[in-house]
Amino acid sequence: MIRTVQALKRALAPWRARRDVIALVPTMGALHDGHFALVRLAQRRADRVIVSIFVNPAQFAPHEDLAAYPRTFDADLAALAALAVDAVWAPSVPTMYPAGFATRIIPEGPATAGLEDAFRPHFFAGVATVVAKLLIQCEPDIAVFGEKDYQQLKVVTQLARDLDLGTRIVGAPILRDKDGLALSSRNAYLSRGEREAAPLLHRVLVRCAKAIAAGEPIDSVLDEGRAAIAKGGFALDYLEARQARTLAPASAARKEPLRLLVAARIGNTRLIDNVAV
Ligand code: AMP
Repeated sequence: MIRTVQALKRALAPWRARRDVIALVPTMGALHDGHFALVRLAQRRADRVIVSIFVNPAQFAPHEDLAAYPRTFDADLAALAALAVDAVWAPSVPTMYPAGFATRIIPEGPATAGLEDAFRPHFFAGVATVVAKLLIQCEPDIAVFGEKDYQQLKVVTQLARDLDLGTRIVGAPILRDKDGLALSSRNAYLSRGEREAAPLLHRVLVRCAKAIAAGEPIDSVLDEGRAAIAKGGFALDYLEARQARTLAPASAARKEPLRLLVAARIGNTRLIDNVAV
């Protein structure tokens, strides 16, 4: 496990000298099978895989769950050792944000699509700043991000391109439990009753995607989906159909691929999910 930028550079130097293909898998820890699927994908695409574990304070608003965010560091390290990852980059908060740190990257484009950004206005600046730092520190050839955080994947792809970071961003499919619930570190917050209710989100997404693919009008399909989610005990933040590539609003006339995206709260837990149409 690597804790300082200097030690990270020392570990990377021989890999670079050998021209190894290097992959980075950024995480906030509390690792689950969804993260491990990203690691395996990275291992298929690269000679060396670095997993970063950093719970990034900059992407949490003051009222959000930074202090409560699940931390299972020892178990994470053991699991990554079992997967034989080549390095775990686990900087402390002062290593990433030393006293006097005063830079923030404010992403636009997909970061202002009116989805997560409308409900978490701090979020993407925090993500963009930390991901830029991680990519600059590790200089990976590829970095793997989950489609689970679909808007984030778009933001990071744009960031790497706009800043000439030299890393190709690779998206990985969403890993789900058998009942359809997308795996997430935050699922640990769910009570038993909430956990039983939670797969509704994916069921509604799938139902809406089928209806839209069958030619039903998008607006009425989404309205029915929104009602079903509210009836299932969730407080809905959004259920939207967007162009999959740009996150621009879906227009009925055009034939571009669509993505349905949802965010909803159950009890104190906020869940997000998405599916392709
Ligand atoms: P996190 O630790 O939640 O910040 O997630 C780290 C990375 O894992 C992000 O790129 C997420 O999109 C990805 N990820 C989280 N959950 C899943 C999942 N169920 N399936 C695929 N990727 C995931």
